[in-house]
Amino acid sequence: MADNNILPAWLASAPYLPQFQVRDTRHKYGRYDPDPKIVTVADLIRFHGHLCGGLMEAVVALRAAFDALFPDGVIDRTDLAVISNNSACGGDVAAYLTGARARFGSHIINLSLTGGESIVRRISTGETVHVFMHPDVYPHEVKAQMRKLQSGEFEPEDIDRFGELQWAYAGRLASQPASASTRIEFLENYAWPEPTCDDLGRRTDNDFRNAA
Ligand SMILES: [Zn+2]
Repeated sequence: MADNNILPAWLASAPYLPQFQVRDTRHKYGRYDPDPKIVTVADLIRFHGHLCGGLMEAVVALRAAFDALFPDGVIDRTDLAVISNNSACGGDVAAYLTGARARFGSHIINLSLTGGESIVRRISTGETVHVFMHPDVYPHEVKAQMRKLQSGEFEPEDIDRFGELQWAYAGRLASQPASASTRIEFLENYAWPEPTCDDLGRRTDNDFRNAA
C-alpha cells in the first residue's frame, strides 16, 4: 500500500494513473492562488470512501475532459460546471475535481448518463465537452456481477468477487492513457439545463478571484 495506506501498490505503480493540478482562490473573497494544488486518486478515495470502478471511470473521463478544456494543464476549479449521473462514486469525483456543487446549481444530475459520462463546461469561455467511456473498455463482467448482487440472489463470496472485479477494472483504466479509455466531443451551442436542486443561492467565495 502507498500514500498512507490509501492507494494499493498495484494502482500506485500503474503507468497512467491520472493526477490533477488544480487552481483555486487563496482565501474566501481572495484572489487566485498563484500556487496550484495536486489532487491525487488517493485524495479522491479519502473523500469518496473507497476505490471502485465508478471512481476510476470518472477519474479518466474527467482527465480527458480537462485535457481538452485546460491545455496548460491547470484546472480552474472556480470556473467549472458539470453534469454527471447520480452515481455515489462518479458524482463524488465530479464534485471534488470540478469545484461544482449541486447546492449552488453548478453540478447538475442527469440520470440518463452512464458511468463516467459527463458534460463539463468551462464557464468563462463557454467551451463545453461531452466525455464518455470508450465502448472497448465496457466492464461486462463487473456489470454482470453487480446485477447479481442487486438481484438479492447471491452468496457471500459474490460480494468479494465484485470488489475484485471492480479493482481489476480500475487497474485496466490506469494502465492506458485516459484518451484511450474515453471518447470526447466539443458541444457547440449546448443548451445548459436548469439546475436539478432548488435555488438556495449561488456560490460567492470565488467572486474576488480577479480583484485588483
Ligand atoms: Zn464507489
